[in-house]
Amino acid sequence: MDKLLFGISGIPIGYPSTKYNYATGIEFLKGINLDAMELPFVRSVNITDKNKEAVLNTKKANDFYLSAHGSYYINLNAAEEEKLEKSLERIEKGALALKKVEGRSLIFHPGYYLQDTPETTYNNIKANLQRLSDFGVDYRLETTGKPTQFGSLEEIVSLCKEIEFCEPCIDFSHIHARNNGSLKEYDDFARILEYIGENLGDKALKDMHIHVSGINYGIKGEKNHLPFLESDFKYDAFIKALIDYDVKGCIICESPILEKDSLLLKNLYDSM
Ligand SMILES: [Zn+2]
Repeated sequence: MDKLLFGISGIPIGYPSTKYNYATGIEFLKGINLDAMELPFVRSVNITDKNKEAVLNTKKANDFYLSAHGSYYINLNAAEEEKLEKSLERIEKGALALKKVEGRSLIFHPGYYLQDTPETTYNNIKANLQRLSDFGVDYRLETTGKPTQFGSLEEIVSLCKEIEFCEPCIDFSHIHARNNGSLKEYDDFARILEYIGENLGDKALKDMHIHVSGINYGIKGEKNHLPFLESDFKYDAFIKALIDYDVKGCIICESPILEKDSLLLKNLYDSM
């Protein structure tokens, strides 16, 4: 992509007493100068025959970017074949629904280690990802916020290197929480971007999908999301590193105050 887009996860908070749906949410976000929305398919796929046209038309009219977050009920390291099939089905259903509204990236958490070693888990997840059909939507594997959940930076980057239709979704807040507060200064952000460039090439830095918010965490990783100003997340160092590495793509803000924090980042980015 030739730009870095800023957006939010789901429907905006907007004006009090106004209720939004995807279409009116897109219009609202465009009106405040944001560019993207990630449709939360986390509990169900909520692009239906009833709303798909309105969402697609509004997206096109506003030159807006759409991605989607896939189901939370996915484990590509499940022991039972039935659970694996259900997981694959949920991922593909999300991809097909996103395609109907011309969205690009379906983001999901690939699975859990359960009783397996990281190596066994990696190999199982890799084999199962290769069973997915390619619908022309990018499958984006997300870095996860808990050490029990598969998805360290290294695991995600390595899978994306091995499987052609997989791309990373780098959740910087998850990386921070997973390692009990590891992103302390500029160099910590720069190192991640350096690693992605080295392993996936400059083209990956020019087409990144990023999740970010303030985050509350402990020794077991992520607890809950926070507004940036109520957290220890170094969003200024983060933005500076994105500029220095000339990162393009899309940043989805998952803070509880959604569009306010997304605008905080966008305004900072534009001012640097
Ligand atoms: Zn996620």
